[in-house]
Amino acid sequence: MSGAQALFRDFTERMADYGAKRDFPAIKGTSYLSAHLRFGTISIRQLAAYARARSSSGAATWLSELIWRDFYHAILWHHPRVATQCFKPAFDALRWEDAPELFAAWCAGRTGYPLVDAAMRQLSYAGWMHNRLRMVTASFLTKDLGVDWRRGEAWFAEKLLDFDLAANNGGWQWAASTGCDAQPWFRIFNPVTQSEKFDAEGRFLRRYVPELDKVPQKFIHAPWTMSATQQAACGVSIGRDYPLPVVDHAAARERTLARFKAIRE
Ligand SMILES: Cc1cc2nc3c(=O)[nH]c(=O)nc-3n(C[C@H](O)[C@H](O)[C@H](O)COP(=O)(O)OP(=O)(O)OC[C@H]3O[C@@H](n4cnc5c(N)ncnc54)[C@H](O)[C@@H]3O)c2cc1C
Repeated sequence: MSGAQALFRDFTERMADYGAKRDFPAIKGTSYLSAHLRFGTISIRQLAAYARARSSSGAATWLSELIWRDFYHAILWHHPRVATQCFKPAFDALRWEDAPELFAAWCAGRTGYPLVDAAMRQLSYAGWMHNRLRMVTASFLTKDLGVDWRRGEAWFAEKLLDFDLAANNGGWQWAASTGCDAQPWFRIFNPVTQSEKFDAEGRFLRRYVPELDKVPQKFIHAPWTMSATQQAACGVSIGRDYPLPVVDHAAARERTLARFKAIRE
Protein backbone atom coordinates (compact mmCIF):
# COMPACT_ATOMS: atom_id res chain seq x y z
CA MET A 1 0.00 0.00 0.00
CA SER A 2 1.33 3.49 -0.84
CA GLY A 3 2.17 5.98 1.92
CA ALA A 4 -0.76 8.16 0.86
CA GLN A 5 -3.25 5.29 1.00
CA ALA A 6 -1.92 4.21 4.41
CA LEU A 7 -2.36 7.75 5.75
CA PHE A 8 -5.86 7.93 4.32
CA ARG A 9 -6.82 4.57 5.80
CA ASP A 10 -5.62 5.77 9.21
CA PHE A 11 -7.68 8.94 8.82
CA THR A 12 -10.86 7.08 7.84
CA GLU A 13 -10.92 5.71 11.39
CA ARG A 14 -10.72 9.26 12.78
CA MET A 15 -12.85 11.08 10.20
CA ALA A 16 -16.05 11.12 12.28
CA ASP A 17 -14.20 13.10 15.00
CA TYR A 18 -12.63 15.57 12.56
CA GLY A 19 -15.01 18.44 13.41
CA ALA A 20 -14.34 18.13 17.13
CA LYS A 21 -10.58 17.60 16.92
CA ARG A 22 -9.28 19.49 13.89
CA ASP A 23 -8.51 22.76 15.70
CA PHE A 24 -6.17 21.43 18.38
CA PRO A 25 -2.53 21.26 17.28
CA ALA A 26 -1.41 18.95 20.11
CA ILE A 27 -3.68 16.12 18.98
CA LYS A 28 -3.89 13.99 15.87
CA GLY A 29 -7.07 15.50 14.44
CA THR A 30 -6.51 16.13 10.73
CA SER A 31 -5.61 13.88 7.79
CA TYR A 32 -2.03 15.09 7.05
CA LEU A 33 -2.74 14.45 3.37
CA SER A 34 -1.91 17.94 2.10
CA ALA A 35 1.49 17.10 0.56
CA HIS A 36 -0.06 14.10 -1.21
CA LEU A 37 -2.88 16.25 -2.55
CA ARG A 38 -0.36 18.85 -3.61
CA PHE A 39 1.74 16.38 -5.60
CA GLY A 40 -1.14 14.23 -6.85
CA THR A 41 -0.08 11.05 -5.05
CA ILE A 42 -3.68 10.59 -3.89
CA SER A 43 -6.85 11.26 -5.84
CA ILE A 44 -9.05 14.16 -4.73
CA ARG A 45 -11.97 12.32 -6.35
CA GLN A 46 -11.37 9.25 -4.18
CA LEU A 47 -11.31 11.42 -1.04
CA ALA A 48 -14.37 13.51 -1.94
CA ALA A 49 -16.40 10.42 -2.94
CA TYR A 50 -15.51 8.66 0.31
CA ALA A 51 -16.45 11.67 2.48
CA ARG A 52 -19.70 12.27 0.57
CA ALA A 53 -20.77 8.67 1.17
CA ARG A 54 -20.41 9.06 4.97
CA SER A 55 -23.15 10.36 7.25
CA SER A 56 -21.03 11.74 10.13
CA SER A 57 -20.75 15.48 10.68
CA GLY A 58 -16.96 15.01 10.79
CA ALA A 59 -17.01 13.70 7.21
CA ALA A 60 -19.18 16.65 6.12
CA THR A 61 -16.76 19.13 7.72
CA TRP A 62 -13.78 17.43 6.09
CA LEU A 63 -15.50 17.53 2.70
CA SER A 64 -16.02 21.27 3.16
CA GLU A 65 -12.24 21.64 3.66
CA LEU A 66 -11.59 19.74 0.42
CA ILE A 67 -14.00 22.20 -1.19
CA TRP A 68 -11.94 25.18 0.11
CA ARG A 69 -9.02 23.71 -1.82
CA ASP A 70 -11.01 23.63 -5.05
CA PHE A 71 -12.45 27.07 -4.33
CA TYR A 72 -9.00 28.64 -4.06
CA HIS A 73 -7.88 26.87 -7.24
CA ALA A 74 -10.91 28.36 -9.01
CA ILE A 75 -10.08 31.83 -7.66
CA LEU A 76 -6.51 31.62 -8.92
CA TRP A 77 -7.62 30.29 -12.29
CA HIS A 78 -10.25 32.99 -12.84
CA HIS A 79 -8.32 35.83 -11.15
CA PRO A 80 -4.60 35.12 -11.71
CA ARG A 81 -3.75 38.67 -10.57
CA VAL A 82 -4.28 37.48 -6.94
CA ALA A 83 -0.83 35.87 -7.16
CA THR A 84 0.65 39.34 -6.71
CA GLN A 85 -2.25 41.65 -5.81
CA CYS A 86 -5.07 41.82 -3.28
CA PHE A 87 -8.28 40.12 -4.38
CA LYS A 88 -10.08 43.28 -3.27
CA PRO A 89 -8.17 45.93 -5.31
CA ALA A 90 -8.90 48.73 -2.80
CA PHE A 91 -6.58 47.03 -0.32
CA ASP A 92 -3.58 47.34 -2.63
CA ALA A 93 -3.37 50.86 -1.21
CA LEU A 94 -2.71 49.55 2.34
CA ARG A 95 0.47 50.96 3.82
CA TRP A 96 2.37 48.06 5.35
CA GLU A 97 5.33 48.34 7.75
CA ASP A 98 8.86 47.61 6.56
CA ALA A 99 9.91 46.20 9.97
CA PRO A 100 12.79 43.85 8.98
CA GLU A 101 13.55 42.98 12.63
CA LEU A 102 9.96 42.09 13.41
CA PHE A 103 9.73 39.99 10.27
CA ALA A 104 12.95 38.17 11.20
CA ALA A 105 11.60 37.50 14.72
CA TRP A 106 8.40 36.04 13.23
CA CYS A 107 10.35 33.79 10.82
CA ALA A 108 12.59 32.53 13.62
CA GLY A 109 9.78 31.88 16.12
CA ARG A 110 11.03 34.55 18.52
CA THR A 111 8.13 37.00 18.84
CA GLY A 112 7.55 36.37 22.55
CA TYR A 113 4.05 35.00 21.86
CA PRO A 114 4.41 31.26 22.57
CA LEU A 115 1.69 30.00 20.20
CA VAL A 116 3.08 32.02 17.29
CA ASP A 117 6.64 30.93 18.08
CA ALA A 118 5.77 27.24 18.50
CA ALA A 119 3.95 27.30 15.17
CA MET A 120 6.77 29.04 13.29
CA ARG A 121 9.27 26.58 14.72
CA GLN A 122 7.02 23.67 13.67
CA LEU A 123 7.08 25.11 10.14
CA SER A 124 10.87 25.27 10.02
CA TYR A 125 11.34 21.91 11.73
CA ALA A 126 8.66 19.84 10.01
CA GLY A 127 7.87 21.70 6.77
CA TRP A 128 4.23 21.62 7.83
CA MET A 129 2.03 23.68 10.12
CA HIS A 130 -1.39 22.96 11.60
CA ASN A 131 -4.22 24.88 9.90
CA ARG A 132 -5.32 26.73 13.06
CA LEU A 133 -1.74 27.92 13.47
CA ARG A 134 -1.40 28.97 9.84
CA MET A 135 -4.35 31.27 10.53
CA VAL A 136 -2.90 32.53 13.84
CA THR A 137 0.61 33.18 12.50
CA ALA A 138 -0.66 34.83 9.30
CA SER A 139 -2.97 37.06 11.32
CA PHE A 140 -0.09 37.90 13.66
CA LEU A 141 2.24 38.92 10.84
CA THR A 142 -0.31 41.05 9.02
CA LYS A 143 -2.41 42.43 11.88
CA ASP A 144 -0.01 42.53 14.87
CA LEU A 145 3.22 43.31 13.02
CA GLY A 146 1.58 45.16 10.11
CA VAL A 147 3.75 43.35 7.57
CA ASP A 148 2.53 42.80 3.99
CA TRP A 149 0.86 39.37 3.56
CA ARG A 150 3.01 38.74 0.45
CA ARG A 151 6.16 38.49 2.61
CA GLY A 152 4.57 35.86 4.85
CA GLU A 153 3.17 34.04 1.85
CA ALA A 154 6.68 33.85 0.36
CA TRP A 155 8.14 32.51 3.64
CA PHE A 156 5.48 29.80 3.82
CA ALA A 157 6.11 28.99 0.14
CA GLU A 158 9.79 28.41 0.93
CA LYS A 159 9.15 26.23 3.99
CA LEU A 160 5.93 24.25 3.39
CA LEU A 161 6.26 20.77 1.89
CA ASP A 162 2.60 21.05 0.87
CA PHE A 163 3.11 24.50 -0.67
CA ASP A 164 0.34 25.16 -3.13
CA LEU A 165 0.10 28.62 -4.70
CA ALA A 166 -3.71 28.71 -4.73
CA ALA A 167 -4.25 27.45 -1.14
CA ASN A 168 -1.37 29.46 0.31
CA ASN A 169 -2.42 32.66 -1.42
CA GLY A 170 -6.07 32.11 -0.44
CA GLY A 171 -5.13 31.44 3.19
CA TRP A 172 -2.91 34.51 3.40
CA GLN A 173 -5.45 36.82 1.82
CA TRP A 174 -8.12 35.38 4.15
CA ALA A 175 -5.96 36.14 7.19
CA ALA A 176 -5.02 39.61 5.92
CA SER A 177 -8.69 40.39 5.11
CA THR A 178 -7.73 41.34 1.55
CA GLY A 179 -9.30 38.19 0.03
CA CYS A 180 -12.49 36.97 -1.56
CA ASP A 181 -14.35 35.81 1.54
CA ALA A 182 -16.48 37.31 4.26
CA GLN A 183 -13.62 37.74 6.76
CA PRO A 184 -14.10 41.35 7.95
CA TRP A 185 -10.91 43.40 8.34
CA PHE A 186 -11.70 44.28 11.94
CA ARG A 187 -11.54 40.61 13.01
CA ILE A 188 -8.08 40.29 14.52
CA PHE A 189 -6.94 37.09 16.23
CA ASN A 190 -5.68 37.50 19.77
CA PRO A 191 -2.57 35.25 20.00
CA VAL A 192 -3.04 34.71 23.74
CA THR A 193 -6.73 33.76 23.74
CA GLN A 194 -6.18 31.54 20.69
CA SER A 195 -3.47 29.77 22.69
CA GLU A 196 -5.69 29.38 25.76
CA LYS A 197 -8.51 28.03 23.63
CA PHE A 198 -6.69 25.65 21.31
CA ASP A 199 -3.73 24.49 23.41
CA ALA A 200 -5.11 25.01 26.91
CA GLU A 201 -2.61 22.73 28.67
CA GLY A 202 0.30 24.08 26.62
CA ARG A 203 1.25 20.61 25.32
CA PHE A 204 1.99 21.87 21.82
CA LEU A 205 3.78 24.94 23.18
CA ARG A 206 6.13 22.89 25.34
CA ARG A 207 6.97 20.59 22.41
CA TYR A 208 8.27 23.42 20.23
CA VAL A 209 9.30 26.04 22.80
CA PRO A 210 11.28 23.98 25.34
CA GLU A 211 12.53 27.15 27.05
CA LEU A 212 9.06 27.36 28.61
CA ASP A 213 8.87 23.73 29.67
CA LYS A 214 8.79 24.49 33.40
CA VAL A 215 6.44 27.48 33.17
CA PRO A 216 3.14 26.72 34.98
CA GLN A 217 0.07 26.22 32.80
CA LYS A 218 -1.44 29.42 34.20
CA PHE A 219 1.34 31.52 32.62
CA ILE A 220 2.40 29.47 29.60
CA HIS A 221 0.26 31.44 27.13
CA ALA A 222 1.63 34.84 28.28
CA PRO A 223 4.87 34.15 30.19
CA TRP A 224 5.80 37.85 30.46
CA THR A 225 2.97 38.25 32.99
CA MET A 226 4.99 36.27 35.57
CA SER A 227 6.63 38.28 38.33
CA ALA A 228 10.43 38.06 38.75
CA THR A 229 9.88 35.69 41.68
CA GLN A 230 7.59 33.44 39.66
CA GLN A 231 10.14 33.40 36.81
CA ALA A 232 12.91 32.46 39.21
CA ALA A 233 10.74 29.68 40.69
CA CYS A 234 10.46 27.97 37.30
CA GLY A 235 14.02 28.77 36.24
CA VAL A 236 13.30 31.03 33.31
CA SER A 237 14.02 34.70 32.78
CA ILE A 238 11.71 36.34 30.24
CA GLY A 239 13.76 38.72 28.15
CA ARG A 240 16.86 36.53 28.54
CA ASP A 241 15.87 32.86 28.01
CA TYR A 242 12.77 33.65 25.97
CA PRO A 243 11.89 37.00 24.32
CA LEU A 244 9.56 39.62 25.69
CA PRO A 245 6.62 40.25 23.29
CA VAL A 246 7.91 42.15 20.25
CA VAL A 247 4.67 44.16 20.14
CA ASP A 248 1.81 44.87 22.51
CA HIS A 249 -1.24 43.15 21.01
CA ALA A 250 -3.78 45.79 22.10
CA ALA A 251 -1.72 48.68 20.67
CA ALA A 252 -0.99 46.74 17.47
CA ARG A 253 -4.71 46.07 17.07
CA GLU A 254 -5.45 49.79 17.17
CA ARG A 255 -2.76 50.49 14.54
CA THR A 256 -4.27 47.84 12.26
CA LEU A 257 -7.77 49.23 12.65
CA ALA A 258 -6.43 52.67 11.69
CA ARG A 259 -4.52 51.21 8.71
CA PHE A 260 -7.67 49.59 7.31
CA LYS A 261 -9.93 52.51 8.20
CA ALA A 262 -7.73 54.85 6.16
CA ILE A 263 -8.50 52.74 3.08
CA ARG A 264 -12.25 52.78 3.73
CA GLU A 265 -12.23 56.52 4.04
C1 LIG B 1 -2.06 31.16 5.69
C2 LIG B 1 -2.41 29.77 5.17
C3 LIG B 1 -1.59 29.15 4.24
C4 LIG B 1 -1.90 27.88 3.75
N1 LIG B 1 -1.10 27.30 2.80
C5 LIG B 1 -1.41 26.10 2.28
C6 LIG B 1 -0.59 25.49 1.27
O1 LIG B 1 0.41 26.06 0.80
N2 LIG B 1 -0.95 24.25 0.83
C7 LIG B 1 -2.06 23.59 1.29
O2 LIG B 1 -2.33 22.46 0.85
N3 LIG B 1 -2.86 24.16 2.21
C8 LIG B 1 -2.57 25.38 2.73
N4 LIG B 1 -3.37 25.93 3.70
C9 LIG B 1 -4.60 25.22 4.10
C10 LIG B 1 -4.48 24.25 5.30
O3 LIG B 1 -3.84 24.89 6.37
C11 LIG B 1 -3.73 22.97 4.96
O4 LIG B 1 -4.26 22.40 3.78
C12 LIG B 1 -3.87 21.93 6.09
O5 LIG B 1 -3.37 22.45 7.30
C13 LIG B 1 -3.13 20.66 5.71
O6 LIG B 1 -3.23 19.69 6.72
P1 LIG B 1 -4.11 18.38 6.51
O7 LIG B 1 -3.77 17.73 5.22
O8 LIG B 1 -4.00 17.57 7.74
O9 LIG B 1 -5.58 19.03 6.36
P2 LIG B 1 -7.06 18.46 6.59
O10 LIG B 1 -7.69 19.30 7.63
O11 LIG B 1 -7.10 17.00 6.77
O12 LIG B 1 -7.78 18.85 5.21
C14 LIG B 1 -7.79 17.97 4.09
C15 LIG B 1 -7.29 18.68 2.85
O13 LIG B 1 -8.16 19.74 2.49
C16 LIG B 1 -7.41 20.82 1.94
N5 LIG B 1 -7.60 21.99 2.80
C17 LIG B 1 -7.89 22.00 4.12
N6 LIG B 1 -8.07 23.26 4.57
C18 LIG B 1 -7.87 24.06 3.51
C19 LIG B 1 -7.92 25.47 3.32
N7 LIG B 1 -8.21 26.32 4.32
N8 LIG B 1 -7.62 25.96 2.10
C20 LIG B 1 -7.34 25.13 1.08
N9 LIG B 1 -7.30 23.80 1.17
C21 LIG B 1 -7.57 23.27 2.38
C22 LIG B 1 -5.95 20.38 1.92
O14 LIG B 1 -5.67 19.82 0.66
C23 LIG B 1 -5.92 19.32 3.01
O15 LIG B 1 -4.89 18.37 2.85
C24 LIG B 1 -3.08 27.21 4.19
C25 LIG B 1 -3.89 27.84 5.15
C26 LIG B 1 -3.57 29.11 5.64
C27 LIG B 1 -4.48 29.77 6.65
